[in-house]
Amino acid sequence: TTKLDLLSENTKQSAQLFEQAKKGIPGGVTANIKYIAPHPIIMERGKGSKLYDVDKNEYIDYLLCYGALILGHGHPYVFESVMKQMKEAGTTIFGTPHRLESVMAEKLISLYPGIEMVRYTNSGLEATLLAIRMAMAYTGKSKLAKFEGHYHGGFDQVLLSVNPEEDQAGNEKIPNTVPESRGIPDYYVENTVILPFNDLIATEKILRARAHEISSIIMEPIQGGFIPADQEFITGLRGLTEELGILLIFDEVKTGFRLSLGGAQKNYDIKPDITALGKVLGGGFPVGAIGGKKEIMLISAPDGGRDILTAGAENKNKQDALFHSGTYNGHPTILASGLATIEVLESEGTMESLFSNTQLLRHQLEDVYQQYNIPMQTIGEGSIFNIILTQNNIKNYRDMNKADTTLRKKLDYELLKLGIYTKPLNRYSMSIAHTEEDITRTVEAHKRAIQIILD
Ligand code: PLP
Repeated sequence: TTKLDLLSENTKQSAQLFEQAKKGIPGGVTANIKYIAPHPIIMERGKGSKLYDVDKNEYIDYLLCYGALILGHGHPYVFESVMKQMKEAGTTIFGTPHRLESVMAEKLISLYPGIEMVRYTNSGLEATLLAIRMAMAYTGKSKLAKFEGHYHGGFDQVLLSVNPEEDQAGNEKIPNTVPESRGIPDYYVENTVILPFNDLIATEKILRARAHEISSIIMEPIQGGFIPADQEFITGLRGLTEELGILLIFDEVKTGFRLSLGGAQKNYDIKPDITALGKVLGGGFPVGAIGGKKEIMLISAPDGGRDILTAGAENKNKQDALFHSGTYNGHPTILASGLATIEVLESEGTMESLFSNTQLLRHQLEDVYQQYNIPMQTIGEGSIFNIILTQNNIKNYRDMNKADTTLRKKLDYELLKLGIYTKPLNRYSMSIAHTEEDITRTVEAHKRAIQIILD
């Protein structure tokens, strides 16, 4: 047998299973982001804040399925609610309308300032896609604007601005539209405008010149879940979009339920026209949703919202109803999981202690790096943060690119071996299952990793 390239002496089973996986799955992974060189760690169990791999190693999990598992792994109330739902329904899904769809809609309307009506999808990707289509239908304009480096899911229309090559990126005030994948039609490159995040003057210039063709701006109010929009920037942008007849879409797939139960919009006190949700909303199952102003959302009604539009506002939408469909939309089992998750988050003191634990970890990590004279800062909001090895101000994607990722990557690999799980270079998400003991262990592991690298 050929010798396997191992991540560590303790990950042999993972390496072997990965070899097997590569035979039937391109690159051995079902999402490119899941690849870790020389082989990903193959997990087989989760409990609370921990993951366990096939070699029986234990990890404190900070990836938490890219932020989705805010209650940690296997929360008993979520399990119970899902089982109860299936038992009582006698099925996994009806394929028809059912009660929980409205229960969840009412919940989201009560929590999110910008949500007056709701439609469900099966992923965050589908939610942003629908939001963008809805904005185009509503405004009758066919271009989309997005911010450089913001992620909205893996589809053609938005995979356009994380530039692998610095020299393709263009002027930082007028970034180029650069495809991030093979196979993206030129149409999208030509019809997507890239804006510089946290730069209101440069953004305004582009928007004023192109307002007649831009239907909406989609943005992560907190880029990657950890680079916040400045309040002044986001307030300015809300004003500008209103003035120019451009809809503002908040992609809160990551930030939803993670900075407050009402997402970033609640914290910023901004009402976007449309909001996209996902991740935490499914409590660990695939889900997405969009919500927004009644007048906009109603164009997805089977009658194109004509009833309400003729009764009130001017009928801006001359087309037929907006197409929105999906076999699994509003999946009852998944909505039961999401509702249980929200219920736990709503219990008194839960969000507060999640935030204070996150702050505790951030402060302790900052202290450790300072002890070793390594330039470092943690940035983020609520229950998500990232470790950036520079003291320079981080305001956008280009600032991130300038930080030292070589050292961070080395540390992340050592941390994996020491039982701290996140994908190398990824952000840290916290859950309510993370304890002070986990935090202490994590901080000690960082110390150890730094010592190993400095030696
Ligand atoms: N939008 C944001 C901000 C995200 O972080 C993600 C996923 O990471 C998506 C959209 C896409 O969601 P999904 O992976 O569920 O399709």
